[in-house]
Amino acid sequence: MEDLKSIIRDVPDFPKKGIIFKDITTLLADAKSFQRMVDLLAHRYVGLKIDKVVGVEARGFIIGAALAYKLGAGVVLVRKPGKLPSETFSKTYDLEYGTDTLEIHKDAIVKGERILIADDVLATGGTMSAVVDMVTSLGGEIVECCFMAELNFLGGRQKLPQGKVFSLLTF
Ligand code: AMP
Repeated sequence: MEDLKSIIRDVPDFPKKGIIFKDITTLLADAKSFQRMVDLLAHRYVGLKIDKVVGVEARGFIIGAALAYKLGAGVVLVRKPGKLPSETFSKTYDLEYGTDTLEIHKDAIVKGERILIADDVLATGGTMSAVVDMVTSLGGEIVECCFMAELNFLGGRQKLPQGKVFSLLTF
C-alpha cells in the first residue's frame, strides 16, 4: 500500500492556507496504480450483492463508476445543487465555515436496495454523513462507505455509521 500512498501528491495551502490537499489525480493518471486501487476496493465487495454504487461529486464519480462496473451494479450520482435535471431530494450540511448542499434524484434508489457509497478522501466526514442521510431517507440499505484515502487525524469516521467505513489508504 505504501507505493499507492506515495503516488498521491500533497499540495500545501490548497484550497486555503494551512490545508494539505491530498491530490489523487497523480494516482488516477498512473495506469497501474489506478487499476490496482479499483481492483483492491472492488475485491472487498464482490459477492455482497451491491445493487448500486453512489458516487459523490466529483472525484467520487470516477471511483464509484469504476467500482460499479466491476461489481455489475448501477451508478447513482450525488451532485452539487442545480445539476440534476429531474426531481431531487436535497440535504444541507455544516462546513467549517457556512453550509453546503448536495442533491440526489428521488427515484435513483429503490427502497431496500443495497448501496455502496464511494468518495476519494474522508476528511471531516461532513460530506459523507450527509450522503448517508440522503441514501437512508430514500430507503437504501447502506452496505459500506468506501474511500480511496482517509485523513485519520480528522476523525471523520466518528460521524459515519459504525463498522460501515472502509478506506484503502490512511494518512
Ligand atoms: P469532508 O466533508 O471534510 O470529509 O471532506 C469532503 C470532501 O472534501 C471530500 O470529498 C474530499 O474530496 C475533499 N477534501 C477535504 N479535505 C481534503 C484534503 N485535505 N485533501 C483532499 N481532499 C479533501
